Amino acid sequence: MDGTALPVVVVGAGPVGLAAAAELLEQGLEPLVLEAGTEAAAAVIEWGHVRLFSPWEWVVDPAAQRLLEKQGWTAPDPEHYPTGVEWVERYLAPLAQALGERVVTGARVVGATRRGRDRVVDAGRDTEPLVIHVLTASGEERVLARAVVDASGTWTSANPLGGDGMPAIGEHAASGRVRAAVPDLADPAERARYAGRHVVVAGSGHSALTALAGFAALVDEEPGTTVSWLLRRSGFGQVFGGGDADQLPARGALGQRAAEAVRAGAVSPVFGFRTERVEQDPDGRLTLVSDDGARVEGVDEVVVVTGFRPELSWLSEVRLELDPTLQAPVRLAPLIDPNVHSCGTVYPHGAAELAQPEPGLYLAGMKSYGRAPTFLARTGYEQVRSIAAELAGDHEAAARVELVLNETGVCGGAGLFDAGTSAAETAEVSGCCSPAEPEQSEARVAETVGAHGAGH
Ligand SMILES: Cc1cc2nc3c(=O)[nH]c(=O)nc-3n(C[C@H](O)[C@H](O)[C@H](O)COP(=O)(O)OP(=O)(O)OC[C@H]3O[C@@H](n4cnc5c(N)ncnc54)[C@H](O)[C@@H]3O)c2cc1C
Repeated sequence: MDGTALPVVVVGAGPVGLAAAAELLEQGLEPLVLEAGTEAAAAVIEWGHVRLFSPWEWVVDPAAQRLLEKQGWTAPDPEHYPTGVEWVERYLAPLAQALGERVVTGARVVGATRRGRDRVVDAGRDTEPLVIHVLTASGEERVLARAVVDASGTWTSANPLGGDGMPAIGEHAASGRVRAAVPDLADPAERARYAGRHVVVAGSGHSALTALAGFAALVDEEPGTTVSWLLRRSGFGQVFGGGDADQLPARGALGQRAAEAVRAGAVSPVFGFRTERVEQDPDGRLTLVSDDGARVEGVDEVVVVTGFRPELSWLSEVRLELDPTLQAPVRLAPLIDPNVHSCGTVYPHGAAELAQPEPGLYLAGMKSYGRAPTFLARTGYEQVRSIAAELAGDHEAAARVELVLNETGVCGGAGLFDAGTSAAETAEVSGCCSPAEPEQSEARVAETVGAHGAGH
């Protein structure tokens, strides 16, 4: 069969997978989106109660917008901040509907290979199609693809509570009291689970800040609620983000709400705590023990928001080139490494940085960031615009830079969590936030130093 007659298989119908389909269609290519969930955007639905820190303006893909507008869709107020559910109802679900049979739900991808070859065989890798192995309710099947865009996200592989990246001893056994998501405290059942209890929040990213802000209100409203906040780092550093200096104001405000909760005494920070063990007390509650023997006792509930990692097992028969630290494509990783970057900016990048040694295979979206925490949907939209152009043979458009991101306002230190700041700080100010375009570079560095001077 002529390989160009085959679809481009997109794995995952999240915001980036659906955008990939729209971008591919615009380039005259036929996408087939395989989604494990029972509906499109299954991962976003799971955290649907959380309000985005990006306004509508930043979370609608341009090609998707053009496709939707042909069907009479009107864009929401660009300055409004949707919740995850609103993102789905107003944009992602209509987009999946507009793509019609090109989006197949209930289709979990469990393998990828080259037709007739395992990963060891050299011959035919750029002539034979890729093969995707899919599980559906009616069984299993193989789908041939001219190219594959893996936009399957990282939502299903959350980092554990254990401070060393492995689950803490006893973490699984305590799973009834340990949860890896920001709770929906507006839901009466969820609220009852935490009201009047000793809650531990572990983590220091945006999800942790969101959870802390929610729990601070619960402390006010529900007597007896106490909140301990476990941080691996030895001080706050830049954990509260850029505040007013953040170019996404809602993201900046998250940190300010969490800082206020600490100042008001609603949240008690526990620094330098690397959870090693979860012990079950005779009364059913938990004691968390750190690797240096520190203890947090009388814990009713643990909320683990320590970030995500990519699920790579189904890619074991294709050739990948991933950064050993971040598990992100090697050419992208240096641009987003949280050991030196906290800005939230990234050099514009696309097909060239995301391609793998396996011809026709690209990682995109949240998954492409591996373990780096600063992914924004808008980055993903630009990635898939570039990939679609490359697959259509428009190499000039694939290489073009079409993205400027909003800085976090903390371009002055390590985005990672255990670090002191000085070495990373120096690296950051000297270039982390400078985009590739020289004329933007000056302004960015000025902003960087400005944010730095503002005391972050
Ligand atoms: C609480 C929270 C708040 C956030 N707020 C913002 C924000 O304000 N602004 C912003 O830009 N970003 C935000 N993000 C980041 C956000 O997740 C991404 O921007 C966006 O959801 C990433 O889209 P994606 O398509 O790459 O991944 P996902 O949204 O994770 O979608 C991946 C899809 O792939 C499917 N899938 C997974 N594995 C398979 C498989 N093996 N086979 C088939 N399908 C599979 C999943 O079911 C899912 O539908 C937030 C994230 C979280 C968790």
